[in-house]
Amino acid sequence: MPEGPEIKRLATRLDKVLTNQPLEELRFSYRDLDRFNDQLRVQNITKIDSKGKALLIFFESGLTLYSHNQLYGKWLIVRKGKTPKTNRTQRLVISTLRHSAFLYSASSIELLQPEELENHPYLIKLGPDALAEETSWEQVYQQLISSRFEGRSLGSLLLDQHFVAGIGNYLRSEILHVSRLSPFDRPKDLPANKKRTLSKDILRVTGQAFLTAGVTNDLSRVSILKEQGLSRSKYRFAIFARAGLPCYECGKKIVRSETNGRRFYSCPACQPSVRMV
Ligand SMILES: [Zn+2]
Repeated sequence: MPEGPEIKRLATRLDKVLTNQPLEELRFSYRDLDRFNDQLRVQNITKIDSKGKALLIFFESGLTLYSHNQLYGKWLIVRKGKTPKTNRTQRLVISTLRHSAFLYSASSIELLQPEELENHPYLIKLGPDALAEETSWEQVYQQLISSRFEGRSLGSLLLDQHFVAGIGNYLRSEILHVSRLSPFDRPKDLPANKKRTLSKDILRVTGQAFLTAGVTNDLSRVSILKEQGLSRSKYRFAIFARAGLPCYECGKKIVRSETNGRRFYSCPACQPSVRMV
């Protein structure tokens, strides 16, 4: 499933081709939303953004199109006049003079009034968004020390969109490795300076993934690995999907395990659990 950085990059691309462009076509083929086709087609899209893993398209009338793709949903952007080759079910197409954006198989599409957007059951429960400009590391720190989250394991917290929105499974392994933390430790087991570092790393690593289309390895290391001729799949991550390979920091073998039902990668030497020593 795409994580926050991938959704945010998609939102940025859609924003670039659709926002403030006259719409040539806007057509839903999803439940009863097709009755809005004519009304929305004559409006401007004023902004496209993501929140957590939801995509939001804002129209000038104040209506917002909410979509959440879960596992199967996908947006594809093509030159106007072309149709993507896919077996997925089309839910929506929006075309300008130059581009068409197709949405396929999304699990959830809703058209929301401003008050419905404010009280949306998915959006209202999200924690601070790791990719929103206004989110500060201090806000993440406040989440870590809150009674709601301080007693839960980091492996579980970093997948919980109520804790911080936008993190997903590869980011969980990468962030905890950079912070030198075990997924089994809880915020309340850690000294304040470790929690501060983790709060900053959560925003920094997720932000880097957005800027680099998912490269979370140390960027100076990435330059060296690229010079050696390694492909993206080999230099992309510091730890994720590198089971059995040596840790870049200490040379010990990276271990794959499973925590909270998802695969997790760590270095036993660099990331000892404070609860288990
Ligand atoms: Zn190591």
